[in-house]
Amino acid sequence: MSSSAVILQEHRIRPSAQRVLILDYIRSVHTHPSADTIYKALLRDCPGLSRTTVYNTLELFAQHGLILSLDFGEGYLRFDGEIKPHTHFKCEKCGTVSDIFTTPENCEKMLPKGSSLNSVSLYLYGKCAACNKG
Ligand SMILES: [Zn+2]
Ligand SMILES: [Zn+2]
Repeated sequence: MSSSAVILQEHRIRPSAQRVLILDYIRSVHTHPSADTIYKALLRDCPGLSRTTVYNTLELFAQHGLILSLDFGEGYLRFDGEIKPHTHFKCEKCGTVSDIFTTPENCEKMLPKGSSLNSVSLYLYGKCAACNKG
């Protein structure tokens, strides 16, 4: 896996310390955090960080396809460092979002006959295993 600094350079984004920190963080977690969660998590290591920088940087990364922005209809976006095509399952009770790696072939089977698939953006909702137990 390339380092975040290399990825930024490949996309002609200046790899400032804060940008590298934000990209490292989003690529290391699988919790689909909001911009606010990311800001709060990074503030400890980077006291000079501003909320606006985090928001703008995430937007820039999403525009370049380095991360995904996800809208679960919660009134804010969540961000995902996993950019391989996949779908999401959200637990409506605890809010946990898990990745489901469907193959493009499997998704293609759901399309009307003769159609072709370019990308996958599917949101599934329900109750996770932990919430079903409790
Ligand atoms: Zn749950
Ligand atoms: Zn995901």
